[in-house]
Amino acid sequence: MTIASTRPPIAPHVALISVHGDPAAAIGGEEAGGQNVYVRQVGESLAARGWQVDLFTRRATQDAKAVVEHGPSCRTIRLPAGPPCFIPRQEIFTHAGEFVAALQQYARREGRRYALLHSNYWISGWVGLQLKHADRMPLVHTYHSLGAVKYRSVSEPPHTTQQRLEIERDCLEQSNCAIATSPQERDDLRSLVSERGRIEIVPCGTDVRRFGSISRLDARAHLGIDPAAKVIFYVGRFDRRKGIETLVRAVRASESFGHIPLRAIIGGGFHPGQADGRERERLGALACELGLEDTLEFSGRISDADLPAYYAAADVCVVPSHYEPFGLVAIEAMACGTPVIASNVGGLKFTVAHEETGLLVPPQDATGFAIALDRVLGNPDWRDRLGAAGRQRVQAEFSWDGVADRLSALYERVIAESSASDLTVSPASAGRM
Ligand code: UDP
Repeated sequence: MTIASTRPPIAPHVALISVHGDPAAAIGGEEAGGQNVYVRQVGESLAARGWQVDLFTRRATQDAKAVVEHGPSCRTIRLPAGPPCFIPRQEIFTHAGEFVAALQQYARREGRRYALLHSNYWISGWVGLQLKHADRMPLVHTYHSLGAVKYRSVSEPPHTTQQRLEIERDCLEQSNCAIATSPQERDDLRSLVSERGRIEIVPCGTDVRRFGSISRLDARAHLGIDPAAKVIFYVGRFDRRKGIETLVRAVRASESFGHIPLRAIIGGGFHPGQADGRERERLGALACELGLEDTLEFSGRISDADLPAYYAAADVCVVPSHYEPFGLVAIEAMACGTPVIASNVGGLKFTVAHEETGLLVPPQDATGFAIALDRVLGNPDWRDRLGAAGRQRVQAEFSWDGVADRLSALYERVIAESSASDLTVSPASAGRM
């Protein structure tokens, strides 16, 4: 579907704010995951549609470049917010005020007025709200994770919980539009966060040219994987809510089904001594305890160049999250023609069509995951049919081209509505900042 554009010929500047998820960072390391990918993809694809896009993030290392150009109309700008070193997410909010001041200073210096701000995650949402109120700029917000849902399954919520819940409510009530990436997220926002505020559903997308470019056999030859092996694949951050423990236990249980040779590959970077490094260590110890040394391997961070081959090489990709607002990994795997076995939660209920493109299983149910693995691994023809249907589904619903058209149209509507209300409310405010 082509969406008619009302955008003026001179492309407006828009700013995406992602304080803790650097869109120019290597994906797969500590704290770098779906949000980084999303912000970078949104930026680049909107730039390709004629917007001038600045992506703002905090400077997290001493030697990080202040500006990274992704193309003529899209760049990442790193601003000071706390010391230039890794700061755990819960601590970053302390420095959010400094980030607001740095962004305002940058915009003044460049003589730039943003037609729209798009914040990502609650910390950036707070930054966006400060800028919206101070400088009368329209704001759209993507949550990436909802405290109200996430903390239901966490025994010891962090000290920032109350603050986060309040800011997430403010983002819904005070932004011009909250973007839900799945119907479940929209329902959660309405029932758990606030009855007020506007919500539109625009899913995340993926690059269907990059994912889906290699066959299973070629991918295995490229990666040196036995063509006869039954390969189970996971990729993502080492965070407890990702449910990797369920997968490890399911692999142990599925050994008894006799799919030989069975190989489970768990990909993703981590930093020894930090939260993800400790989780990786815990899972490594569990795998040893269960006697999985010969079956299961932790492959470390998977490079952008190799990732499509890993998905394609796999018989099945597993996404065992306890909570998953969207879950890019599921659509990336499906784009590669690989069936997905996922927890029956959040965005995964929306992206994975049960019995059509994969299987949905209750979260933390290792036996349920093992049975699902047995069904897919035991029937290669069905595996291929699920895989083909998955690719089709992603091409139809989650291709970045279509998603970016929807986002671009949403930006245009929000800008048009907000300039109309600016004219009625305060003509004098036009052209400030
Ligand atoms: N990813 C990657 N290499 C890795 C680990 C992860 O490129 O070693 C990417 C993965 O392809 C996906 C993103 O990180 O695009 C993870 O996004 P998802 O929405 O699945 O999870 P999140 O990180 O948001 O919890």
